[in-house]
Amino acid sequence: MARRPAGAREQQQGHPGAGGGVNDSALRRKLAEAEAALQAANAALEVERNRFRALFDAVPDPVSILDWEGTVLDLNKAGIAAYNRPRGEIVGKNIDILNPDLPRDHLAPVWEVLNRGGTYVVEVTNMRADGTRFPVEVHSAGFDDGGETRIVAVARDLSKRHEAEVRYRELMEVIDKGILVRKADGRVAYANPAAMRILRIPKGASLVEELALDHWRIFDEHGKELDDQELPSFRALRTGTISPSTVLGFLNLATRRLIWLSITSVPQFAPGQDHPQQVLSLFSDVTAFKRDITLFDRVQDLAHVGGWEWDANSEHVYLTGEAQRMLGLARTSASISELQACLRETERKRFHDALTRAVEHGEGFEMDLQGIRADGHTLWIRIIGESEAADPTGTRLTGTFQDITETKQAEETLRVQARTDPLTMLLNRDAVLEELEARLSDPSHSDVAVLYIDLDRFKVVNDVLGHAAGDQVIASAARRIQRAVATEGLIARFGGDEFLVVCLTGDDPERPQRLAAAILEAFGDAFRMAGEEFTITASIGIARAPEHGDRPQLLIQNADVAMYDSKRRARNGWQDFSQALADQQQQRLQMETHLRRAVDNREFKLVYQPQVELLTGRIVGAEALIRWRNDTLGEMRPDHFIGHAENTGDIVRIGGWVLREACQQMRRWRDEGLPIERVAVNVSYRQFLAEDLAETVAEALASAGLPGDALELEFTERVLIEDAPDTLTTFAGLRMLGVLLSIDDFGEGYSALNYLRRLPIHGLKLSQQFLEGVPHNTSDVAICQAVAGIAQSLGLGLVAEGIESDAQRQFLIRLGVKIGQGFLFAPGLTPEELALRIARHAPTRAHA
Ligand code: C2E
Ligand code: MG
Ligand code: MG
Repeated sequence: MARRPAGAREQQQGHPGAGGGVNDSALRRKLAEAEAALQAANAALEVERNRFRALFDAVPDPVSILDWEGTVLDLNKAGIAAYNRPRGEIVGKNIDILNPDLPRDHLAPVWEVLNRGGTYVVEVTNMRADGTRFPVEVHSAGFDDGGETRIVAVARDLSKRHEAEVRYRELMEVIDKGILVRKADGRVAYANPAAMRILRIPKGASLVEELALDHWRIFDEHGKELDDQELPSFRALRTGTISPSTVLGFLNLATRRLIWLSITSVPQFAPGQDHPQQVLSLFSDVTAFKRDITLFDRVQDLAHVGGWEWDANSEHVYLTGEAQRMLGLARTSASISELQACLRETERKRFHDALTRAVEHGEGFEMDLQGIRADGHTLWIRIIGESEAADPTGTRLTGTFQDITETKQAEETLRVQARTDPLTMLLNRDAVLEELEARLSDPSHSDVAVLYIDLDRFKVVNDVLGHAAGDQVIASAARRIQRAVATEGLIARFGGDEFLVVCLTGDDPERPQRLAAAILEAFGDAFRMAGEEFTITASIGIARAPEHGDRPQLLIQNADVAMYDSKRRARNGWQDFSQALADQQQQRLQMETHLRRAVDNREFKLVYQPQVELLTGRIVGAEALIRWRNDTLGEMRPDHFIGHAENTGDIVRIGGWVLREACQQMRRWRDEGLPIERVAVNVSYRQFLAEDLAETVAEALASAGLPGDALELEFTERVLIEDAPDTLTTFAGLRMLGVLLSIDDFGEGYSALNYLRRLPIHGLKLSQQFLEGVPHNTSDVAICQAVAGIAQSLGLGLVAEGIESDAQRQFLIRLGVKIGQGFLFAPGLTPEELALRIARHAPTRAHA
């Protein structure tokens, strides 16, 4: 295309001047014609040349015409401007002037291509007049210029493109995303520094080697191993489409390091191609993020806490995986009504109201609700919700779901445990008090009765068979009571061997008595324990509300009073609380109040019942018996108040006073010269339990200046039954003092004879209970004989008490009993009376 003008220029240049004639006019005409033609031709040529020049100069890129040696024959305006030199400095010079960096024979490959008819394209650096360089892409083509082959070279300035490329490259270098270019054949062609850093490829290491796929194992987000071909870059290459962001795990087999990457792959096409020529993968390291998410999921899973988010403008609630699992929903997106359907019907409104308040007033909420999963499984959920502070619309609520089923169950178990007696699984004391309180304060249920049940002689079972057997007895007694009461009342274990039954009486006024009879009946069969059979009975007291009290404590206390009364009369029975009992109770309280102050008020005195030689009637000693005179209550026998004093513990102080008083009296008698060997004092089991008895006794003796053998202590078998830890030590201490120890009312107690061998005792007192029937009642006679035999064979002294007739005295003498006391000889006497009696027996004094 560019040949004609160049050729034209040659032609034109080849006609500097044309002329010469043959025939004048014809010639002139011809000449004129020729001239005109020539002028026309020249004009046409000029037009042509101008058009070419204009065209040549109009090309925006530098265009030069070269001869075969590289001499510049012509250069257009753009070239002159680009090289910034006058035309004259270039035309006629070798092209070297424009690109001095080219090798000598740089035209050789050009000609080679041109000769084949091709276009030679090369990037070179050209130089301006001032020596500055700029990159160009030169397209060279050959053309025939009037027989000479010339080169037309079009140079395109690449400065702009280079700048863009440099910027692009810089961007790749500094961007924090990893960039990896893979060629169509899968080979890695480029990795930017971020990619090297993220993939931990050491500087200078071979990319191809480090990134070879057999150095890595690849996993999807859920940990499933993937095939190489499933990599996003390969997929993009295969499909020619962008593979959207995917999270993959890359395990480097050499370092065993696992990196999680979020990758996007973009295929790149060469112009006019329909297959990608390469793929560019952009990725970032999400290992920490992924770890946090994994941990977050794990924590949710372990803590049974799920999250939820709800925009009140939409029906949809977003749930985390754990929340979804907890509620048994199929998807992590649920509608608000689906969510409500996971709650018990009764709870739905509460939840709905809380949501409404949260949306309308921005109130946060926390509530425990009962839920039902789709599979019917029930659970407890703690739901927390609040409006999201960062949400400008204020309609977005977020919160948590927590599965608190186990906690709730544990709480329930604890609550049950706290109310249950572990041995019998019945309600315990606190629980029954609570239940009774609830019933008494509910007007529709306040007609209730309380049965107070106490096992008879349970203490003996415990002592003889041991505590484990005792527990078994309690447990089986509980079962019997349960069978008897069935569903007619609440049953509780109230104390050691005490049970309570609470029943309603509104519908059936006779129910308490009927239940009492059924319970006693249930105790009719013998208990079997370790191959042994024995009978245990119960005593029951009944009190009803409101007549016998409208408060739990009072009602129970009155039932206890009735039970105690029943036990006192005859065991194995039941007794209603009554006004008479209430009065007794009142009296008892009154008595206890007075009793507390009696020692200080000097209301006690002692009388002394002589103990005599049965054969001679000689007084050898005396038993001190307490008497109480109170201004309000009048004269009181010890049988009436000792038990109360023992219950309240006042007996300890009272007993101390008795000991000191008896010793002082003994001192006075001795000082008067009365031949009395010793004084006997009754000691309560409570004194054994409560204090150092030996010390009190020692002090009483010392302050009266008496030797130990001037004192005898009487105690009942109860002391042994209580079996306090210090009992043996106390006995030993008393023994050291030299005092005499005897068991009072022997045979009335619990007949555990073992202790007789264990304890350092001196004597027994034969209970007057057995003497009553003597000498006619054969079993009483037999018991007296047995007791006498025991005393004799164990080498213990024996004193008979309650001798009222001479027949009894004769009987005892025959039995070998030496000493006795009773109304036959004397009742309790004042010290003066006793002294008189002894004096009257003066003749025997000489024998003393
Ligand atoms: P005890 O130790 O067995 O005392 C004998 C009781 O029988 C005395 O009753 C006495 O008055 C009574 N008695 C004596 N001879 C006869 C008789 O021939 N026929 C009848 N039916 N009874 C007779 P008392 O004084 O009422 O004492 C009752 C119980 O009170 C005593 O029984 C003793 O266990 C207790 N007691 C008395 N004084 C004290 C004391 O100072 N301290 C303690 N802890 N208990 C005492
Ligand atoms: Mg006595
Ligand atoms: Mg007695």
